[in-house]
Amino acid sequence: MGKNNTKAEKAKRNLEYAKKFKKRRPSARGGRPPFRPSPSPGSSSPSGFNSDRPSFDAVCTTCGTKTTVPFEPTPGKPVLCRNCFVASRPV
Ligand SMILES: [Zn+2]
Repeated sequence: MGKNNTKAEKAKRNLEYAKKFKKRRPSARGGRPPFRPSPSPGSSSPSGFNSDRPSFDAVCTTCGTKTTVPFEPTPGKPVLCRNCFVASRPV
């Protein structure tokens, strides 16, 4: 009998422990998963990002400043310098 009893006690303790553990997680933040910003690919590599990036000479369509863009400027499409690009973005 003693043997069985200890086994049952152990199982009971285990169950309670599991319950406690389970209960702790979702209620900690109201069941909401924590916000995790995903790192953008390429921007995290310290080397080879800036030097590897191609740059093309272009003239800003908006203010006429000479600038360089990381892509080949398409004829007929507006090219924005950094300032105008930032200014043209909503917020
Ligand atoms: Zn500009």
